[in-house]
Amino acid sequence: MSIMVPSKTPALITPGRQALDSALHQLDQAAGHLGLDDGLRTMLATPRRSLTVSVPVRREDGRLDVVQGYRVQHNVSRGPAKGGLRFHPATDIHEVTALAMWMTWKCALVGIPYGGAKGGVAIDPAVLTTRELERLTRRYVNEILPLIGPEKDIPAPDVGTDEQTMAWIMDTYSVNAGYSVPGVVTGKPTTLGGSLGRSGATSRGVQIAALAALGRSPEGVTVAVQGFGKVGAPAAQYLSDAGCKVVAVSDVSGAVHAAGGLDIAKLRAYAAETGGVRGFHQADALGHDELFELDVDVLVPAALEGVITEANAPRIRARLIVEGANGPTTPEADEILVGNGTTVVPDILANAGGVIVSYLEWVQNMQAYTWSSGDVELKLRELMLGAFSEVTSLAADRGLTLREAAHVIGVGRVAEVHQMRGLYP
Ligand code: GLU
Repeated sequence: MSIMVPSKTPALITPGRQALDSALHQLDQAAGHLGLDDGLRTMLATPRRSLTVSVPVRREDGRLDVVQGYRVQHNVSRGPAKGGLRFHPATDIHEVTALAMWMTWKCALVGIPYGGAKGGVAIDPAVLTTRELERLTRRYVNEILPLIGPEKDIPAPDVGTDEQTMAWIMDTYSVNAGYSVPGVVTGKPTTLGGSLGRSGATSRGVQIAALAALGRSPEGVTVAVQGFGKVGAPAAQYLSDAGCKVVAVSDVSGAVHAAGGLDIAKLRAYAAETGGVRGFHQADALGHDELFELDVDVLVPAALEGVITEANAPRIRARLIVEGANGPTTPEADEILVGNGTTVVPDILANAGGVIVSYLEWVQNMQAYTWSSGDVELKLRELMLGAFSEVTSLAADRGLTLREAAHVIGVGRVAEVHQMRGLYP
């Protein structure tokens, strides 16, 4: 092995480093099951390209701030790199690398022709005005311009970014190209070539995965959702629409609980008006940590990485966890959950709905054609359920957890392409 994968350095363990350690641990396990040699393991453990940029932003008061930005292309062997762009103060190169790696396995698992990428800018978007945010986005895009393009690397929304961010990226790229290039990003507004069904796609996928994993009528099934943002709020809505009783949700403002079930539509309206779920009158306040320990059937972590750890895993009572977020469960917590008989539908399967509809958006852009929302929903369902049944069959055949099986399939497909293509030169 000529390239060494960086090892854990206790003094430098950040949340981003923890996410990368989790991703490397999962890769190592899958590589073991697949019997991959050391060279290929190292290839898959290291990103093909990583770019760190310093992004100057002119603030409204004239001050100049410089923030760190990243774009990591973990793998490009199965197609263009694909993955979201995150604006979050704690993001770093390790976190972005982990998220890019998970995108590679996710795309391979659901059978869409992409590699994996992720971008990040270490900023809290809430502290910027809209104009500052626009300047920051456009300058960041300009810095990573040589890397992106519809045939190279296609960003999409992630934590802290949205349709407006994607519109600015599309415009910045298009102005530089000299013509409109809608296929450079997905998750755009529909007026700019965004796909019908993209905004709720990750949540719709979470609903599809949760209902498939339940394997029984959702009527009265109790659910707690951690995170009430772009993924969590619509996921709570769709699960509630399907007949589940969503009894608790949380966001950065706090957590709320109603044993009889929350009125999700009213809660969403309340959160949109007040900025959070805290104080919702038709519910009791709950501690953030208490949400994880509730006696519910299903727990949906739908915010950030590393929230289910060895500290709270022993107290989790849900029998089913459906990961709407990327990397919410640490490997140590995973082991505890397995020991307790909890089923975990892993992130690379459960939250794949977003990138699946991103792919459908990109296909529409490349063909300059628009699909109906029915066509999009049908294809999303087909790809989600196809991957779900492959994962559950492999898990049953080989005695693996769903996470192990999902990684064996995703990593295996990427490894196979590397072996078929060979090494240049
Ligand atoms: N950010 C989403 C994810 O983590 C979507 C990525 C995409 O659509 O490219 O899967």
